[in-house]
Amino acid sequence: MEIRVELTKTPKAKPVPGEKLPFGKQFSDHMFLMNYKTGKGWHDPRVVPYGDLALSPAAMCLHYGQTVFEGMKAYYGKNGDILLFRPQENFARLNASNQRLVIPPIDEEVCLAGVKKLVEVDKDWVPHDEGTSLYIRPFIIAVDPVLGVHPGDEYLFLIITSPSGAYYESGLEPVKIYVEDRYVRAVRGGTGMAKTGGNYAASLIAQDEAHRQNYSQVLWLDGVEQRYIEEVGAMNVFFVLEGEVVTPELHGSILPGITRKSSIQLLKDWGIKVSERRITIQELAEANDQGRVLEAFGTGTAAVISPIGELKWEEKRMIFNQGKIGALTQRLYDTLTGIQYGSLEDPHDWSVFVCKA
Ligand SMILES: *Cc1c(COP(=O)(O)O)cnc(C)c1O
Repeated sequence: MEIRVELTKTPKAKPVPGEKLPFGKQFSDHMFLMNYKTGKGWHDPRVVPYGDLALSPAAMCLHYGQTVFEGMKAYYGKNGDILLFRPQENFARLNASNQRLVIPPIDEEVCLAGVKKLVEVDKDWVPHDEGTSLYIRPFIIAVDPVLGVHPGDEYLFLIITSPSGAYYESGLEPVKIYVEDRYVRAVRGGTGMAKTGGNYAASLIAQDEAHRQNYSQVLWLDGVEQRYIEEVGAMNVFFVLEGEVVTPELHGSILPGITRKSSIQLLKDWGIKVSERRITIQELAEANDQGRVLEAFGTGTAAVISPIGELKWEEKRMIFNQGKIGALTQRLYDTLTGIQYGSLEDPHDWSVFVCKA
């Protein structure tokens, strides 16, 4: 499929070195668009000037949430290469989300070509400062102007991009996380494994409560018994115990993170035992009381690796590694970011070259 390109006539000021880039507030000059109509399939992939959409107020996505999204980044590499990190995984996951939300599958090759074309056209929007990146948000919305509840016949696939500052301003900072024991994010058979807006809408109330209590994020427990650890807001979670690194197994209600998958691979490469298994919050609390939890961290595209300094569960406060970043956490962060920015060897061919800056 040919990707048409229409360049903006009113380019905006690009990020300059040293500029503060708040997350997700500034957008590049262009966006990628593609349409779907039943009978016609996905068609007209194009890069066009960034701008507002014309949508019917009856558009289905606005009422029933038939939407899916992805999150990835373009990195300015050490030698001036612009790189993506495992983008094929994002589009494979987008199709898994599509399947759950009854959205027609997209051609992953076309999406990859589309994101590359968009990043190439907007390559001056990829910031150069250390730790910065161009955040990339692919998403699909049902746009039929119909209020009946049924899968749509018309969809829009879009990719927008936003230059983002370094997640950590001065080294990795451990976060304090609140264990939610009242609300749940997802249940098996629900949409927890899909990247869809509704999961986030359902999580806001807990996020709000966590903030009120001065915690930055929420750790979710399973939706049935509220005993098993699932994941953090937009991160998967790992605990370094004596003799094994534990992360909850993927069983349908947890989002299968690409940073999670990459971290498991690296840990195994280093000869460390990784157990993808169920772990209760009780088991974690007991292990921590006995001094057997050495480190805890979250994984996700935004923060890459986020050390967890404290978990608050009911009246109990669990402190890990004296609230400081652990050695394995730091090593994972350094290795993943080293591969993403092209400064370390990439033994699994995770980096994808887009163009020269
Ligand atoms: C996106 C996301 C993650 C992290 O996935 P990555 O592919 O590592 O960025 C984890 N949990 C949830 C709920 C998410 O939406």
